[in-house]
Amino acid sequence: MNNGIIVKGIGGFYYVDTGDRIFECRARGKFRKEKVIPLVGDRVKITIQESSGQGVIEEIEQRETELIRPPVANINNAVIVFAIQKPEPSISLLNRFLILAETQEIDITICFNKIDLLQDQELSDLMGIYEKIGYSVIGTSTKQGIGLKDLSQKLMDKITVFAGPSGVGKSSLLNAIQPNLRLQTGEVSSKIERGKHTTRHVELLQLDFGGWVLDTPGFSSLSLDFIGEDELQYFFKEFNEFVGMCKFNACRHLSEPDCAIKKAVEENQICQSRYESYMQLLEEILQTRRY
Ligand code: GDP
Ligand code: ZN
Repeated sequence: MNNGIIVKGIGGFYYVDTGDRIFECRARGKFRKEKVIPLVGDRVKITIQESSGQGVIEEIEQRETELIRPPVANINNAVIVFAIQKPEPSISLLNRFLILAETQEIDITICFNKIDLLQDQELSDLMGIYEKIGYSVIGTSTKQGIGLKDLSQKLMDKITVFAGPSGVGKSSLLNAIQPNLRLQTGEVSSKIERGKHTTRHVELLQLDFGGWVLDTPGFSSLSLDFIGEDELQYFFKEFNEFVGMCKFNACRHLSEPDCAIKKAVEENQICQSRYESYMQLLEEILQTRRY
């Protein structure tokens, strides 16, 4: 049997890369009976039929992670991309992406792209906030070729999902790292137009220096309603050293007295905008529970 990874699935066929080549495969009927659907990213064992050269998926390895939207297994790395300008970064959206990524056991890098458009200190302030929390943050420009080595290093030997709003330069960054990927870039409107006419499938693209990237942005569903209201605080990494110090065990850090989180915000140990995101997301989660 050969080991491989599913890089694409179309109409009941799975394309499995074994390292030397890609085999078109069917899945054994047992998977359907067990209600297991092979996913892009699955590490599999295949047998190859000599007559046809086609393969059969015999075994699927236990998944390390599983994203629902897009449906992909074994992602172990996320790069969250925002532009420093054009479009202006939304801090609340950035925090939302971060919390979604934190719900998976994956490495996270924040990438601020288009730093060629930078004129003042803005970026370093923004970078500082997230570096202080413990995130790895890189600044990039595809126009000036800045930070691309750092980005490549983050992708090496990982299975990576890029996340972030459209127009920030996700496709441009991947093309800049590896031109033969030839991802479509450009104005948001023209891309949406194209999207209408082509059926999207999920595909892993192989990186020449080792590793894989998903061709489509991750966390496309930004809903957080699967996160428990008591659980949310733990996905704000910098809250962790304070949560045990609140007066009430079940403190939600809203209007309770002697709240260590609120105190930390007042003392600038926790960034105000992060706390605001926490309140906003908690409110959202509580809202969905009410119905
Ligand atoms: P995506 O939707 O996130 O994949 O973004 P694209 O890669 O399609 O890029 C959107 C637009 O931003 C395109 O017009 C790119 O030329 C432009 N862009 C990408 N990277 C940079 C950069 O580093 N600096 C500047 N100034 N523009 C960039
Ligand atoms: Zn509290």
